[in-house]
Amino acid sequence: MPLKPMNDQNVFYSTDEFPQAILASWAPILENRANCPRSARIIAHHRPESPPTIIQNDCPRWARIRSQAIDNEEFVLHYQPKVNLASGKVVGAEALIRWNDPRTGLVPPDKFIPILEETGLISEVGRWALRRAVEDYLRWRATGLEAVRIAVNVSPLQLRNPGFVAEIERKIGIGAHAADGLELEITESMIMEDVKHSVSILRTIRDMGVHVTIDDFGTGFSSLGYLSKLPLDTLKIDRSFVTDITAGPQGLALVTTIISLAHALKLKVVAEGVETEQQYSLLHLLSCDEMQGYLFSKPVPVEDFEKRFLGRM
Ligand code: C2E
Ligand code: MG
Ligand code: MG
Repeated sequence: MPLKPMNDQNVFYSTDEFPQAILASWAPILENRANCPRSARIIAHHRPESPPTIIQNDCPRWARIRSQAIDNEEFVLHYQPKVNLASGKVVGAEALIRWNDPRTGLVPPDKFIPILEETGLISEVGRWALRRAVEDYLRWRATGLEAVRIAVNVSPLQLRNPGFVAEIERKIGIGAHAADGLELEITESMIMEDVKHSVSILRTIRDMGVHVTIDDFGTGFSSLGYLSKLPLDTLKIDRSFVTDITAGPQGLALVTTIISLAHALKLKVVAEGVETEQQYSLLHLLSCDEMQGYLFSKPVPVEDFEKRFLGRM
């Protein structure tokens, strides 16, 4: 018998009660994915069409995210500057979340975002990240800093949530000019999953004055026909292409083509993961608009970002 119904699709079961046939059929995947061996104390969260998420009651990271990280506001945003290649000026920032776990220190997003996504907690944490970014931008303006637009990453679950547009509306309602300071980074594969839905949501969001960027471009098999119809401001070249730019003529040809394509579609183009002077020089030569990467700065806490890049004394 289910422990606790969540909504129409999702039901929590104790392991004892979980339909054993389903569990057995998904067993190889589950053991890899959740990294929690089957035991009497796991809870399964099951949708008929997808593998159940198995969460061990005493799986320490999950338990602490649920019981402590959200309530105690242990998440922090670090900011990584985006630099205009022609002027050398910092013109934007990407907000990258970290979990400041008091026991282990800073935990990078790839260690906890998949758990937040599997459990649905990403919506709550995503709302928090949006609010924090908007508040930081408005504070920069109010205190006379050289405020730059902040790009926040959006997860597939957030984009699919029917309340997402209203959520953005609420966030930019926090203060006048809030929309000027907000950009959403949405991965190419997420947009391509349901192009019609994405076009309608992105159009509404852009009409509010919020910028939209396609993240990790080149990895999600965009249909070029659709790309021209998508309401976008910026195309962000995936780090793997930037790394390959100096590896040989093919790598260079790919980045050259992406930059030309973006400019032909009147989009700004940003290169992510720029680590070497050589990559920087080539991107400059190819008229890439902006870059982001360790060559210029790693993501840093907000106080450091303000001091180093926004003119705080
Ligand atoms: P992303 O949005 O593609 O972010 C770029 C990642 O590349 C960041 O990793 C950044 O620290 C890293 N990076 C930047 N420059 C360089 C470089 O020069 N070299 C190398 N090796 N790496 C570089 P990070 O912070 O670990 O974030 C990983 C991913 O986690 C992000 O990829 C994004 O998909 C996700 N993420 C981060 N914050 C959030 C958030 O608030 N919400 C959601 N839904 N996802 C987030
Ligand atoms: Mg991003
Ligand atoms: Mg990216």
